[in-house]
Amino acid sequence: MLAIQGGFEAHERVLRRLGAEVKQVKVPADLDGIEGLVLPGGESTAISLGVERERLAEPLRELARAGTPMLGSCAGLIMLDREHLGLMDMRAQRNAFGRQVASFEADVDVEGLDGRPVRGVFIRAPLIAEHGPDVQILGAVDGHAVAAREGRKLALAFHTELGSDDRLHKLFLEDVLAARE
Ligand code: GLN
Repeated sequence: MLAIQGGFEAHERVLRRLGAEVKQVKVPADLDGIEGLVLPGGESTAISLGVERERLAEPLRELARAGTPMLGSCAGLIMLDREHLGLMDMRAQRNAFGRQVASFEADVDVEGLDGRPVRGVFIRAPLIAEHGPDVQILGAVDGHAVAAREGRKLALAFHTELGSDDRLHKLFLEDVLAARE
């Protein structure tokens, strides 16, 4: 869990509920033994500053190059984009849903999840404005891409860690198990 700033505790609770062992990453040495990384929501500016201060960018890129599964939610999605850590070939547009609708909930049909859509909580959420050919869009709201996958990296513009629907975290943990093989 990238634990520099933001809502990492809610993600930790979900992952523990699903039986995962969770370790907080604040400095590069914390990355030792990590099998997957969640980049939580929060403020991408504050997270970027922390990443810079702790010299985490290059070690995180190395982790991604090694094929380590990642799940970025909201500000975490922004951190994954070309203009931040550059771990996914996409460009996020910050605060993309405007001031009037700073926060809202919407059902998102996410490809790869069986059954019902996910109830997404959007809090000053970004959208995926552009992406390269290796990025697969998994879900959209009003025609705006809000969920994507590139290899074993998942990017979500919204939060699901606040509710009881654990399916996206399960998807991430399935990637973690698959990466062991
Ligand atoms: N608006 C925030 C940003 O630009 C993201 C909001 C969130 O993570 N809930 O970083």
